[in-house]
Amino acid sequence: MTDRHLGSDQGGGSRTCPVCQGADLFDLSVRRTPPLLRCRSCRLIFRRDPVHAVVDERMNRERLGRLGEARHPIYTSTLEKLGVHRRLGTLLDIGCGNGYFARLAHQSGWRVAAFDSSEYLCRQARGFGTGMVVRAYAQSVPFSERQFDVVTLWDVIDHLEHPIPALTEALRVLRPGGLLYLRVRNGPIHVGLRRLLLVPKAASVMHTQMFSGSSLATALNVAGFTEIRTDVSSLTTGNPYASPAQQGAGTLKAFKNLWSAGAKLTSRLTHRHLLLAPSIQALARRPLE
Ligand SMILES: [Zn+2]
Repeated sequence: MTDRHLGSDQGGGSRTCPVCQGADLFDLSVRRTPPLLRCRSCRLIFRRDPVHAVVDERMNRERLGRLGEARHPIYTSTLEKLGVHRRLGTLLDIGCGNGYFARLAHQSGWRVAAFDSSEYLCRQARGFGTGMVVRAYAQSVPFSERQFDVVTLWDVIDHLEHPIPALTEALRVLRPGGLLYLRVRNGPIHVGLRRLLLVPKAASVMHTQMFSGSSLATALNVAGFTEIRTDVSSLTTGNPYASPAQQGAGTLKAFKNLWSAGAKLTSRLTHRHLLLAPSIQALARRPLE
């Protein structure tokens, strides 16, 4: 493992941290990982070369549906929690994919709008029966200020080279006191898995940003959110990216259930300081004015 400073005098150019704009960056690259940098200030880990490919564009309708079904229990429990925090009102799902969550939210009584940067996925979402779906980018949300009670970002901002403008846009369209919910991969867990030689490479996911709970909270704070609460997210059931024939016996499901339970317990015992699940989530509010 190297730990080489990448300041402007050592080949890092004008590269700064995409969350805190800090310039004190270190090379975390190790065998089996793509080039990674870490910010000494906010501890964000991120890829030196952003990944621009959207994997979901290669998925057909059937595979997208399986992914939605695998996340179904997470979606429904999140909708229950959001319903407790806010009376049912308006909800915007940014980066809606095939619209699975947006449709569930609509069925739960929310007035839903959704968008995705991929026209392919927008078409899937419209065909799926999701209400209002437009093509747009998270950095330029096509809605007016203070329009929504809730904004959701499911596995979106860790794909973005510049996550702060997207969070700032989410804040802008929320009403004062409105709620943001987001979920991302737990970066340090995936970096750790990748370094373990006995774990297949496919078990870890190297998105553009590798947020931890603390760097995610920093990002939300920088964007202007308050009452930020990060925690582990439940694991999906089985392998959402595999076909039914590739799922195998219930071993993977049992393993993931055990991991999920252990991560939730650890989070509770450490007051949400130690987040050991492969995905993390955050709730935050737009400040009241
Ligand atoms: Zn930083």
